[in-house]
Amino acid sequence: MRFRVNVNANSDIIIIGSGAAGLTAALNLAPHYKVLVLAKGGLSEGSTAWAQGGIAAVLEPGDSFENHIEDTMVAGAGLNNRATVEMVVENAPKAIARLVELGVPFNNEGNHLHLTREGGHSHRRIAHVDDATGWAVQQALEKAAQAHPNITLVPDMVAIDLITGRHADPYSGESHVWGVYALNRKTKHVETLTARATILATGGAGRTYLFSTAPRGATGDGIAMAWRAGCRVANMEMNQFHPTCLYNLEVKNFLITEAVRGEGGILKIPTTGHRFMPDFDERAELAPRDVVARAIDHEIKRLGLDYVHLDISHKPPEFIKEHFPNIYMRLLDLDIDITKEPIPIVPAQHYTCGGVVIDLDGRTDLPGLYAAGEVSQSGLHGANRLASNSLLECFVFGEAAAQHIHANWERLPPPPPIHAWDESRVTDSDEEVIVKHNWSEIRRFMWDYVGIVRTTKRLERAAHRVHLLRREVEEYYGNFRVTPDLIELRNLIEVADLIVRSALARKESRGLHYTRDYPELLAEARDTVLVP
Ligand SMILES: Cc1cc2nc3c(=O)[nH]c(=O)nc-3n(C[C@H](O)[C@H](O)[C@H](O)COP(=O)(O)OP(=O)(O)OC[C@H]3O[C@@H](n4cnc5c(N)ncnc54)[C@H](O)[C@@H]3O)c2cc1C
Repeated sequence: MRFRVNVNANSDIIIIGSGAAGLTAALNLAPHYKVLVLAKGGLSEGSTAWAQGGIAAVLEPGDSFENHIEDTMVAGAGLNNRATVEMVVENAPKAIARLVELGVPFNNEGNHLHLTREGGHSHRRIAHVDDATGWAVQQALEKAAQAHPNITLVPDMVAIDLITGRHADPYSGESHVWGVYALNRKTKHVETLTARATILATGGAGRTYLFSTAPRGATGDGIAMAWRAGCRVANMEMNQFHPTCLYNLEVKNFLITEAVRGEGGILKIPTTGHRFMPDFDERAELAPRDVVARAIDHEIKRLGLDYVHLDISHKPPEFIKEHFPNIYMRLLDLDIDITKEPIPIVPAQHYTCGGVVIDLDGRTDLPGLYAAGEVSQSGLHGANRLASNSLLECFVFGEAAAQHIHANWERLPPPPPIHAWDESRVTDSDEEVIVKHNWSEIRRFMWDYVGIVRTTKRLERAAHRVHLLRREVEEYYGNFRVTPDLIELRNLIEVADLIVRSALARKESRGLHYTRDYPELLAEARDTVLVP
Protein backbone atom coordinates (compact mmCIF):
# COMPACT_ATOMS: atom_id res chain seq x y z
CA MET A 1 0.00 0.00 0.00
CA ARG A 2 1.05 3.61 -0.48
CA PHE A 3 1.69 5.71 2.59
CA ARG A 4 -0.50 8.70 3.23
CA VAL A 5 1.69 11.75 3.78
CA ASN A 6 0.86 13.91 6.74
CA VAL A 7 1.13 17.63 6.15
CA ASN A 8 -0.62 18.71 9.31
CA ALA A 9 2.01 20.41 11.47
CA ASN A 10 -0.41 22.44 13.50
CA SER A 11 1.40 22.80 16.81
CA ASP A 12 4.81 24.26 17.48
CA ILE A 13 5.64 21.97 20.37
CA ILE A 14 4.25 18.61 21.52
CA ILE A 15 4.49 17.67 25.17
CA ILE A 16 3.83 14.05 25.99
CA GLY A 17 2.51 13.99 29.56
CA SER A 18 0.18 16.20 31.58
CA GLY A 19 1.73 15.88 35.05
CA ALA A 20 3.90 18.39 36.91
CA ALA A 21 6.72 18.31 34.36
CA GLY A 22 4.58 18.49 31.22
CA LEU A 23 2.24 21.22 32.39
CA THR A 24 5.09 23.33 33.79
CA ALA A 25 6.80 23.20 30.40
CA ALA A 26 3.51 24.01 28.65
CA LEU A 27 2.82 27.07 30.81
CA ASN A 28 6.33 28.38 30.19
CA LEU A 29 6.05 27.94 26.41
CA ALA A 30 2.48 29.11 25.92
CA PRO A 31 3.23 32.86 25.88
CA HIS A 32 5.19 32.32 22.64
CA TYR A 33 4.05 29.09 20.95
CA LYS A 34 1.14 26.77 20.24
CA VAL A 35 1.52 23.77 22.53
CA LEU A 36 -0.17 20.38 22.35
CA VAL A 37 -0.16 18.36 25.60
CA LEU A 38 -1.01 14.65 25.40
CA ALA A 39 -2.11 12.33 28.19
CA LYS A 40 -2.67 8.66 27.64
CA GLY A 41 -5.78 8.60 29.82
CA GLY A 42 -7.33 11.35 31.91
CA LEU A 43 -5.26 14.49 32.42
CA SER A 44 -4.85 13.90 36.18
CA GLU A 45 -3.99 10.22 36.03
CA GLY A 46 -0.18 10.51 36.40
CA SER A 47 1.82 10.23 39.64
CA THR A 48 1.69 13.95 40.25
CA ALA A 49 -1.87 13.83 41.53
CA TRP A 50 -0.92 11.04 43.94
CA ALA A 51 2.01 12.75 45.64
CA GLN A 52 1.23 13.05 49.31
CA GLY A 53 4.15 14.54 51.23
CA GLY A 54 5.08 17.72 49.41
CA ILE A 55 7.83 19.73 47.73
CA ALA A 56 11.27 20.39 49.21
CA ALA A 57 12.71 23.93 49.24
CA VAL A 58 15.00 25.97 51.46
CA LEU A 59 12.55 28.35 53.13
CA GLU A 60 13.26 28.00 56.85
CA PRO A 61 15.51 30.54 58.60
CA GLY A 62 18.78 28.78 59.44
CA ASP A 63 18.53 26.38 56.50
CA SER A 64 20.75 26.89 53.44
CA PHE A 65 21.11 25.73 49.84
CA GLU A 66 24.34 24.04 50.93
CA ASN A 67 22.39 21.92 53.46
CA HIS A 68 19.78 20.85 50.91
CA ILE A 69 22.50 20.06 48.36
CA GLU A 70 24.40 18.03 50.94
CA ASP A 71 21.28 16.07 52.02
CA THR A 72 20.50 15.28 48.38
CA MET A 73 24.07 14.11 47.70
CA VAL A 74 24.12 11.93 50.84
CA ALA A 75 20.82 10.26 49.85
CA GLY A 76 22.14 9.73 46.31
CA ALA A 77 25.23 7.90 47.61
CA GLY A 78 27.60 10.08 45.61
CA LEU A 79 26.10 9.23 42.23
CA ASN A 80 24.39 12.61 41.82
CA ASN A 81 25.62 15.25 39.41
CA ARG A 82 26.48 18.16 41.69
CA ALA A 83 25.75 20.81 39.05
CA THR A 84 22.22 19.43 38.62
CA VAL A 85 21.65 19.24 42.37
CA GLU A 86 22.75 22.87 42.75
CA MET A 87 20.53 24.05 39.93
CA VAL A 88 17.43 22.27 41.28
CA VAL A 89 17.96 23.26 44.91
CA GLU A 90 18.68 26.90 44.07
CA ASN A 91 15.56 27.15 41.91
CA ALA A 92 13.27 25.52 44.47
CA PRO A 93 12.06 28.64 46.36
CA LYS A 94 11.22 30.29 43.03
CA ALA A 95 9.28 27.20 41.93
CA ILE A 96 7.22 27.26 45.13
CA ALA A 97 6.56 30.98 44.70
CA ARG A 98 5.19 30.32 41.20
CA LEU A 99 2.91 27.58 42.48
CA VAL A 100 1.60 30.01 45.10
CA GLU A 101 0.90 32.48 42.27
CA LEU A 102 -0.97 29.75 40.41
CA GLY A 103 -3.17 29.33 43.48
CA VAL A 104 -1.80 26.16 45.12
CA PRO A 105 -3.24 26.45 48.65
CA PHE A 106 -0.12 25.49 50.62
CA ASN A 107 -0.61 25.12 54.38
CA ASN A 108 0.44 28.27 56.19
CA GLU A 109 1.57 29.08 59.70
CA GLY A 110 1.03 32.77 60.35
CA ASN A 111 2.29 34.51 57.23
CA HIS A 112 4.78 31.75 56.32
CA LEU A 113 4.38 28.44 54.58
CA HIS A 114 4.09 25.58 57.04
CA LEU A 115 7.04 23.24 56.45
CA THR A 116 7.27 19.60 57.51
CA ARG A 117 10.41 17.56 57.90
CA GLU A 118 10.95 14.24 56.16
CA GLY A 119 13.55 11.48 56.47
CA GLY A 120 16.96 12.47 55.11
CA HIS A 121 16.31 16.23 55.35
CA SER A 122 18.37 18.06 57.96
CA HIS A 123 15.76 20.86 58.22
CA ARG A 124 12.05 21.50 57.94
CA ARG A 125 11.78 21.95 54.23
CA ILE A 126 8.62 20.42 52.82
CA ALA A 127 5.92 22.76 51.56
CA HIS A 128 2.63 20.86 51.48
CA VAL A 129 -1.13 20.98 51.10
CA ASP A 130 -2.28 18.72 53.96
CA ASP A 131 -1.32 15.19 52.91
CA ALA A 132 -2.52 15.62 49.31
CA THR A 133 -0.03 18.07 47.83
CA GLY A 134 0.14 16.46 44.42
CA TRP A 135 -3.59 16.68 43.87
CA ALA A 136 -3.60 20.41 44.65
CA VAL A 137 -0.62 21.01 42.36
CA GLN A 138 -2.16 19.02 39.51
CA GLN A 139 -5.44 20.93 39.79
CA ALA A 140 -3.73 24.34 39.80
CA LEU A 141 -1.53 23.51 36.80
CA GLU A 142 -4.43 22.05 34.82
CA LYS A 143 -6.63 25.05 35.54
CA ALA A 144 -3.95 27.45 34.31
CA ALA A 145 -3.26 25.31 31.22
CA GLN A 146 -6.95 25.00 30.39
CA ALA A 147 -7.32 28.77 30.59
CA HIS A 148 -4.47 29.45 28.16
CA PRO A 149 -5.54 29.87 24.52
CA ASN A 150 -2.21 28.57 23.21
CA ILE A 151 -2.39 25.25 25.08
CA THR A 152 -4.45 22.34 23.75
CA LEU A 153 -4.87 19.51 26.24
CA VAL A 154 -5.59 16.14 24.64
CA PRO A 155 -6.49 13.25 26.94
CA ASP A 156 -6.83 9.63 25.74
CA MET A 157 -3.99 9.85 23.25
CA VAL A 158 -1.41 7.07 23.71
CA ALA A 159 2.00 7.98 22.28
CA ILE A 160 3.52 4.99 20.49
CA ASP A 161 6.82 6.06 18.91
CA LEU A 162 8.75 9.24 18.29
CA ILE A 163 8.89 10.57 14.73
CA THR A 164 12.38 11.10 13.28
CA GLY A 165 13.94 11.41 9.83
CA ARG A 166 13.31 7.68 9.38
CA HIS A 167 9.60 8.46 9.06
CA ALA A 168 10.08 11.40 6.69
CA ASP A 169 9.10 11.42 3.04
CA PRO A 170 11.63 11.30 1.51
CA TYR A 171 13.52 9.24 4.11
CA SER A 172 16.28 11.38 5.56
CA GLY A 173 18.02 9.28 8.20
CA GLU A 174 18.16 12.40 10.38
CA SER A 175 17.88 11.85 14.12
CA HIS A 176 15.88 15.04 14.72
CA VAL A 177 12.61 14.33 16.56
CA TRP A 178 9.52 15.89 14.96
CA GLY A 179 6.69 14.67 17.14
CA VAL A 180 5.02 11.37 17.78
CA TYR A 181 2.65 8.70 16.47
CA ALA A 182 -0.18 8.34 18.95
CA LEU A 183 -3.23 6.09 19.25
CA ASN A 184 -6.43 8.02 19.73
CA ARG A 185 -8.42 5.85 22.18
CA LYS A 186 -11.72 7.29 21.00
CA THR A 187 -11.34 6.82 17.23
CA LYS A 188 -8.92 3.86 17.60
CA HIS A 189 -6.79 5.44 14.88
CA VAL A 190 -3.12 6.23 15.01
CA GLU A 191 -2.48 9.93 14.44
CA THR A 192 0.69 11.54 13.16
CA LEU A 193 1.37 14.55 15.38
CA THR A 194 4.25 16.73 14.26
CA ALA A 195 6.03 19.70 15.78
CA ARG A 196 9.39 21.45 15.79
CA ALA A 197 10.20 20.31 19.34
CA THR A 198 8.94 17.45 21.52
CA ILE A 199 9.13 17.13 25.30
CA LEU A 200 8.85 13.78 27.03
CA ALA A 201 7.14 14.16 30.41
CA THR A 202 5.71 10.67 30.67
CA GLY A 203 6.65 9.84 34.29
CA GLY A 204 8.20 6.68 35.70
CA ALA A 205 8.15 2.94 35.15
CA GLY A 206 6.87 1.61 38.49
CA ARG A 207 4.41 -0.78 36.88
CA THR A 208 7.28 -2.91 35.65
CA TYR A 209 6.95 -4.44 39.12
CA LEU A 210 4.10 -6.52 40.49
CA PHE A 211 3.68 -4.17 43.43
CA SER A 212 4.03 -0.45 42.88
CA THR A 213 2.62 2.67 44.48
CA ALA A 214 2.54 4.33 41.05
CA PRO A 215 -0.61 4.68 38.95
CA ARG A 216 -1.61 2.15 36.30
CA GLY A 217 -0.05 4.18 33.47
CA ALA A 218 3.50 4.23 34.90
CA THR A 219 4.80 1.82 32.28
CA GLY A 220 7.95 3.68 31.27
CA ASP A 221 6.59 4.62 27.82
CA GLY A 222 8.80 7.69 27.46
CA ILE A 223 11.94 5.80 28.44
CA ALA A 224 11.17 3.04 25.95
CA MET A 225 10.28 5.48 23.14
CA ALA A 226 13.45 7.51 23.65
CA TRP A 227 15.58 4.37 23.76
CA ARG A 228 14.07 3.04 20.53
CA ALA A 229 14.66 6.40 18.87
CA GLY A 230 18.34 6.39 19.88
CA CYS A 231 18.72 8.14 23.27
CA ARG A 232 21.00 6.96 26.04
CA VAL A 233 19.29 5.74 29.20
CA ALA A 234 21.05 5.69 32.59
CA ASN A 235 20.85 4.27 36.13
CA MET A 236 17.77 2.15 35.48
CA GLU A 237 18.82 -0.25 38.27
CA MET A 238 18.00 2.46 40.83
CA ASN A 239 14.39 1.77 41.81
CA GLN A 240 13.15 3.08 45.13
CA PHE A 241 10.86 0.77 47.11
CA HIS A 242 8.40 1.78 49.82
CA PRO A 243 8.61 -0.79 52.61
CA THR A 244 4.93 -1.28 53.39
CA CYS A 245 2.29 -1.64 50.71
CA LEU A 246 -0.85 -3.76 51.26
CA TYR A 247 -0.53 -7.27 49.83
CA ASN A 248 -3.70 -7.78 47.87
CA LEU A 249 -3.79 -9.17 44.36
CA GLU A 250 -6.60 -6.84 43.35
CA VAL A 251 -5.55 -3.66 45.17
CA LYS A 252 -1.86 -3.50 44.32
CA ASN A 253 -0.93 0.02 45.35
CA PHE A 254 -2.39 0.87 48.73
CA LEU A 255 0.33 2.40 50.88
CA ILE A 256 0.43 1.70 54.60
CA THR A 257 2.05 4.85 55.95
CA GLU A 258 5.32 4.56 57.82
CA ALA A 259 3.54 6.18 60.75
CA VAL A 260 2.02 2.75 61.57
CA ARG A 261 5.52 1.55 62.46
CA GLY A 262 6.19 4.88 64.14
CA GLU A 263 3.19 4.27 66.43
CA GLY A 264 4.29 0.77 67.45
CA GLY A 265 3.43 -1.49 64.49
CA ILE A 266 5.51 -4.68 64.50
CA LEU A 267 6.73 -6.70 61.52
CA LYS A 268 6.24 -10.46 61.87
CA ILE A 269 6.66 -13.68 59.92
CA PRO A 270 3.08 -14.85 59.20
CA THR A 271 3.74 -18.55 59.82
CA THR A 272 5.56 -18.26 63.17
CA GLY A 273 4.70 -14.79 64.48
CA HIS A 274 8.46 -14.12 64.86
CA ARG A 275 9.34 -10.40 65.07
CA PHE A 276 12.23 -10.24 62.62
CA MET A 277 13.36 -6.61 62.42
CA PRO A 278 15.58 -6.79 65.55
CA ASP A 279 17.55 -9.54 63.73
CA PHE A 280 18.54 -6.95 61.10
CA ASP A 281 18.90 -3.60 62.85
CA GLU A 282 18.95 -2.40 66.44
CA ARG A 283 16.38 0.29 65.53
CA ALA A 284 14.05 -2.58 64.55
CA GLU A 285 10.87 -1.32 62.81
CA LEU A 286 12.14 2.26 63.07
CA ALA A 287 15.23 1.66 60.94
CA PRO A 288 15.43 3.74 57.72
CA ARG A 289 13.08 2.89 54.86
CA ASP A 290 15.67 1.06 52.76
CA VAL A 291 16.85 -1.11 55.66
CA VAL A 292 13.28 -2.15 56.47
CA ALA A 293 12.44 -2.82 52.82
CA ARG A 294 15.57 -4.94 52.41
CA ALA A 295 14.87 -6.94 55.58
CA ILE A 296 11.28 -7.68 54.49
CA ASP A 297 12.49 -8.70 51.05
CA HIS A 298 15.16 -10.92 52.59
CA GLU A 299 12.63 -12.79 54.73
CA ILE A 300 10.12 -13.13 51.88
CA LYS A 301 12.78 -14.61 49.58
CA ARG A 302 14.41 -16.77 52.26
CA LEU A 303 11.16 -18.37 53.35
CA GLY A 304 9.37 -18.31 49.97
CA LEU A 305 6.57 -16.15 51.41
CA ASP A 306 4.16 -13.93 49.50
CA TYR A 307 4.08 -11.29 52.24
CA VAL A 308 4.89 -10.54 55.89
CA HIS A 309 2.63 -9.14 58.60
CA LEU A 310 2.53 -5.62 59.98
CA ASP A 311 0.69 -5.82 63.28
CA ILE A 312 -0.66 -2.93 65.31
CA SER A 313 -3.59 -4.87 66.82
CA HIS A 314 -1.92 -4.86 70.27
CA LYS A 315 -2.78 -1.14 70.55
CA PRO A 316 -6.22 -0.11 71.88
CA PRO A 317 -8.86 -0.08 69.09
CA GLU A 318 -9.70 3.57 69.78
CA PHE A 319 -6.05 4.58 69.39
CA ILE A 320 -5.84 2.80 66.04
CA LYS A 321 -9.08 4.27 64.69
CA GLU A 322 -8.10 7.76 65.81
CA HIS A 323 -4.59 7.65 64.34
CA PHE A 324 -5.29 5.75 61.13
CA PRO A 325 -8.92 6.38 60.18
CA ASN A 326 -8.36 6.00 56.43
CA ILE A 327 -6.33 2.83 56.65
CA TYR A 328 -8.77 1.36 59.16
CA MET A 329 -11.80 2.00 56.94
CA ARG A 330 -10.14 1.01 53.68
CA LEU A 331 -8.91 -2.31 55.08
CA LEU A 332 -12.23 -3.01 56.76
CA ASP A 333 -13.75 -2.82 53.27
CA LEU A 334 -11.30 -5.59 52.32
CA ASP A 335 -12.34 -7.65 55.38
CA ILE A 336 -9.20 -6.85 57.39
CA ASP A 337 -9.93 -5.43 60.85
CA ILE A 338 -6.58 -3.94 61.88
CA THR A 339 -7.73 -3.54 65.50
CA LYS A 340 -7.92 -7.35 65.66
CA GLU A 341 -5.55 -8.77 63.05
CA PRO A 342 -2.27 -8.03 61.25
CA ILE A 343 -1.98 -6.45 57.80
CA PRO A 344 -0.33 -8.51 55.03
CA ILE A 345 2.28 -6.24 53.46
CA VAL A 346 5.03 -6.24 50.85
CA PRO A 347 7.47 -3.54 49.82
CA ALA A 348 6.41 -1.82 46.60
CA GLN A 349 8.25 0.03 43.85
CA HIS A 350 7.82 3.74 44.53
CA TYR A 351 10.11 5.83 42.32
CA THR A 352 12.18 5.40 39.13
CA CYS A 353 15.51 7.20 39.68
CA GLY A 354 16.98 6.35 36.28
CA GLY A 355 15.72 7.35 32.85
CA VAL A 356 16.48 9.23 29.66
CA VAL A 357 19.79 11.08 29.93
CA ILE A 358 19.34 14.87 29.82
CA ASP A 359 21.59 17.88 30.31
CA LEU A 360 20.89 20.98 32.39
CA ASP A 361 18.64 22.34 29.62
CA GLY A 362 16.52 19.19 29.54
CA ARG A 363 18.03 18.20 26.18
CA THR A 364 18.27 14.51 25.29
CA ASP A 365 20.77 13.06 22.82
CA LEU A 366 18.42 13.71 19.89
CA PRO A 367 17.94 17.18 18.43
CA GLY A 368 14.41 18.47 18.97
CA LEU A 369 13.75 16.05 21.86
CA TYR A 370 13.66 17.17 25.49
CA ALA A 371 12.69 15.32 28.68
CA ALA A 372 11.68 16.43 32.17
CA GLY A 373 10.47 14.81 35.38
CA GLU A 374 10.49 11.16 36.39
CA VAL A 375 11.10 9.96 32.82
CA SER A 376 14.54 11.56 32.88
CA GLN A 377 17.93 10.98 34.44
CA SER A 378 19.07 14.51 35.13
CA GLY A 379 21.67 13.61 37.76
CA LEU A 380 19.55 14.98 40.62
CA HIS A 381 18.77 11.75 42.48
CA GLY A 382 21.90 9.67 41.94
CA ALA A 383 21.54 6.24 43.54
CA ASN A 384 18.55 7.18 45.72
CA ARG A 385 15.94 9.92 45.74
CA LEU A 386 15.69 12.26 48.68
CA ALA A 387 12.02 12.52 49.66
CA SER A 388 10.08 15.40 48.06
CA ASN A 389 12.82 16.29 45.58
CA SER A 390 10.97 14.69 42.67
CA LEU A 391 8.10 17.12 42.12
CA LEU A 392 10.70 19.83 42.41
CA GLU A 393 12.71 18.28 39.59
CA CYS A 394 9.58 18.44 37.39
CA PHE A 395 9.15 22.19 37.94
CA VAL A 396 12.80 23.07 37.44
CA PHE A 397 13.38 20.94 34.35
CA GLY A 398 9.95 21.67 32.84
CA GLU A 399 10.98 25.31 32.86
CA ALA A 400 14.59 24.69 31.77
CA ALA A 401 13.46 22.74 28.69
CA ALA A 402 10.96 25.49 27.79
CA GLN A 403 13.64 28.16 28.11
CA HIS A 404 16.07 26.27 25.91
CA ILE A 405 13.46 25.72 23.21
CA HIS A 406 12.57 29.42 23.25
CA ALA A 407 16.20 30.55 23.12
CA ASN A 408 16.94 28.20 20.19
CA TRP A 409 13.67 28.36 18.27
CA GLU A 410 15.22 29.51 15.01
CA ARG A 411 17.58 26.53 15.07
CA LEU A 412 14.73 24.00 15.30
CA PRO A 413 13.75 23.10 11.73
CA PRO A 414 10.06 22.67 10.90
CA PRO A 415 8.96 19.07 10.30
CA PRO A 416 9.24 17.63 6.80
CA PRO A 417 6.30 15.62 5.37
CA ILE A 418 5.92 12.51 7.50
CA HIS A 419 4.51 9.12 6.53
CA ALA A 420 1.24 8.23 8.19
CA TRP A 421 1.09 5.11 10.35
CA ASP A 422 0.93 1.99 8.24
CA GLU A 423 -1.71 -0.55 9.27
CA SER A 424 -1.91 -2.35 5.95
CA ARG A 425 -0.33 -5.57 7.17
CA VAL A 426 -1.92 -6.01 10.58
CA THR A 427 -5.26 -7.37 11.75
CA ASP A 428 -7.27 -7.17 14.97
CA SER A 429 -5.90 -9.49 17.60
CA ASP A 430 -7.81 -12.64 18.38
CA GLU A 431 -5.55 -13.50 21.31
CA GLU A 432 -5.73 -10.66 23.83
CA VAL A 433 -4.92 -13.26 26.49
CA ILE A 434 -1.27 -13.13 25.38
CA VAL A 435 -1.07 -9.43 26.24
CA LYS A 436 -2.62 -9.98 29.65
CA HIS A 437 -0.49 -13.01 30.40
CA ASN A 438 2.77 -11.35 29.38
CA TRP A 439 1.97 -8.20 31.38
CA SER A 440 1.58 -10.34 34.51
CA GLU A 441 4.61 -12.47 33.76
CA ILE A 442 6.95 -9.50 33.35
CA ARG A 443 5.77 -7.86 36.53
CA ARG A 444 6.06 -11.14 38.46
CA PHE A 445 9.61 -12.04 37.41
CA MET A 446 10.77 -8.47 37.88
CA TRP A 447 9.36 -8.63 41.39
CA ASP A 448 10.89 -12.01 42.18
CA TYR A 449 14.29 -11.62 40.49
CA VAL A 450 15.03 -7.90 40.10
CA GLY A 451 13.59 -6.53 43.35
CA ILE A 452 15.27 -5.08 46.38
CA VAL A 453 17.95 -7.68 47.11
CA ARG A 454 19.56 -8.98 43.93
CA THR A 455 21.97 -11.72 42.92
CA THR A 456 23.68 -12.26 39.60
CA LYS A 457 21.95 -15.62 39.23
CA ARG A 458 18.49 -14.12 39.67
CA LEU A 459 19.30 -11.27 37.30
CA GLU A 460 20.46 -13.75 34.69
CA ARG A 461 17.21 -15.67 35.07
CA ALA A 462 15.33 -12.44 34.52
CA ALA A 463 17.46 -11.63 31.44
CA HIS A 464 16.60 -15.03 29.99
CA ARG A 465 12.87 -14.39 30.45
CA VAL A 466 13.15 -10.92 28.96
CA HIS A 467 14.74 -12.47 25.89
CA LEU A 468 11.93 -15.03 25.43
CA LEU A 469 9.11 -12.58 26.09
CA ARG A 470 10.60 -9.92 23.86
CA ARG A 471 10.45 -12.29 20.88
CA GLU A 472 6.83 -13.12 21.63
CA VAL A 473 5.82 -9.48 22.13
CA GLU A 474 7.62 -8.34 18.97
CA GLU A 475 5.94 -10.99 16.89
CA TYR A 476 2.57 -10.05 18.33
CA TYR A 477 3.24 -6.34 17.80
CA GLY A 478 4.20 -6.97 14.19
CA ASN A 479 0.99 -8.84 13.39
CA PHE A 480 -1.80 -7.09 15.21
CA ARG A 481 -3.35 -3.64 15.32
CA VAL A 482 -2.05 -1.65 18.30
CA THR A 483 -4.15 -1.25 21.44
CA PRO A 484 -3.24 0.75 24.59
CA ASP A 485 -2.42 -2.50 26.45
CA LEU A 486 -0.18 -3.76 23.65
CA ILE A 487 1.65 -0.42 23.46
CA GLU A 488 2.29 -0.58 27.20
CA LEU A 489 3.35 -4.22 27.09
CA ARG A 490 5.92 -3.46 24.39
CA ASN A 491 7.29 -0.65 26.55
CA LEU A 492 7.27 -2.75 29.73
CA ILE A 493 9.47 -5.42 28.17
CA GLU A 494 11.83 -2.71 26.88
CA VAL A 495 12.10 -1.11 30.30
CA ALA A 496 12.44 -4.47 32.08
CA ASP A 497 15.34 -5.22 29.75
CA LEU A 498 16.99 -1.86 30.54
CA ILE A 499 16.61 -2.43 34.29
CA VAL A 500 18.02 -5.95 34.18
CA ARG A 501 20.94 -4.95 31.96
CA SER A 502 21.78 -1.99 34.19
CA ALA A 503 21.58 -4.12 37.33
CA LEU A 504 23.89 -6.74 35.79
CA ALA A 505 26.34 -4.03 34.76
CA ARG A 506 26.77 -2.57 38.26
CA LYS A 507 29.39 -4.62 40.09
CA GLU A 508 28.88 -3.05 43.52
CA SER A 509 26.10 -2.23 45.99
CA ARG A 510 25.27 1.45 46.01
CA GLY A 511 22.14 3.30 47.10
CA LEU A 512 19.08 1.42 45.90
CA HIS A 513 21.05 -1.27 44.08
CA TYR A 514 21.96 -4.04 46.50
CA THR A 515 23.42 -7.31 45.23
CA ARG A 516 24.62 -10.15 47.40
CA ASP A 517 27.36 -10.94 44.88
CA TYR A 518 28.95 -7.49 45.11
CA PRO A 519 28.09 -6.15 48.58
CA GLU A 520 30.94 -3.60 48.62
CA LEU A 521 30.89 0.01 47.49
CA LEU A 522 33.44 0.82 44.77
CA ALA A 523 35.70 3.82 45.32
CA GLU A 524 34.42 5.66 42.27
CA ALA A 525 30.73 6.44 41.69
CA ARG A 526 29.84 5.90 38.03
CA ASP A 527 26.54 6.11 36.21
CA THR A 528 25.31 3.00 34.42
CA VAL A 529 24.82 4.40 30.95
CA LEU A 530 23.24 2.20 28.26
CA VAL A 531 23.88 3.28 24.69
CA PRO A 532 21.39 2.14 22.00
C1 LIG B 1 2.00 7.48 45.91
C2 LIG B 1 3.07 8.47 45.52
C3 LIG B 1 3.43 9.48 46.41
C4 LIG B 1 4.43 10.42 46.03
N1 LIG B 1 4.74 11.44 46.90
C5 LIG B 1 5.63 12.40 46.50
C6 LIG B 1 5.89 13.55 47.31
O1 LIG B 1 5.30 13.72 48.38
N2 LIG B 1 6.78 14.47 46.86
C7 LIG B 1 7.44 14.34 45.67
O2 LIG B 1 8.26 15.21 45.31
N3 LIG B 1 7.21 13.27 44.88
C8 LIG B 1 6.31 12.31 45.25
N4 LIG B 1 6.06 11.25 44.44
C9 LIG B 1 6.73 11.20 43.12
C10 LIG B 1 6.12 12.23 42.19
O3 LIG B 1 4.71 12.21 42.34
C11 LIG B 1 6.46 11.93 40.73
O4 LIG B 1 7.83 11.71 40.59
C12 LIG B 1 6.07 13.10 39.83
O5 LIG B 1 4.73 13.45 40.04
C13 LIG B 1 6.27 12.74 38.37
O6 LIG B 1 5.71 13.76 37.58
P1 LIG B 1 5.86 13.71 36.00
O7 LIG B 1 5.26 14.98 35.49
O8 LIG B 1 7.24 13.37 35.65
O9 LIG B 1 4.94 12.47 35.57
P2 LIG B 1 3.45 12.08 35.95
O10 LIG B 1 2.80 13.00 36.89
O11 LIG B 1 3.47 10.63 36.31
O12 LIG B 1 2.68 12.27 34.57
C14 LIG B 1 2.95 11.42 33.48
C15 LIG B 1 2.09 11.88 32.33
O13 LIG B 1 2.51 11.24 31.13
C16 LIG B 1 1.42 10.72 30.45
N5 LIG B 1 1.86 9.59 29.65
C17 LIG B 1 2.59 8.53 30.03
N6 LIG B 1 2.78 7.69 28.99
C18 LIG B 1 2.16 8.25 27.92
C19 LIG B 1 1.96 7.87 26.58
N7 LIG B 1 2.43 6.73 26.08
N8 LIG B 1 1.23 8.70 25.78
C20 LIG B 1 0.71 9.85 26.23
N9 LIG B 1 0.87 10.26 27.51
C21 LIG B 1 1.58 9.46 28.34
C22 LIG B 1 0.44 10.35 31.53
O14 LIG B 1 -0.87 10.23 31.01
C23 LIG B 1 0.62 11.53 32.48
O15 LIG B 1 -0.17 12.60 32.02
C24 LIG B 1 5.08 10.30 44.78
C25 LIG B 1 4.71 9.29 43.91
C26 LIG B 1 3.71 8.39 44.25
C27 LIG B 1 3.34 7.31 43.26
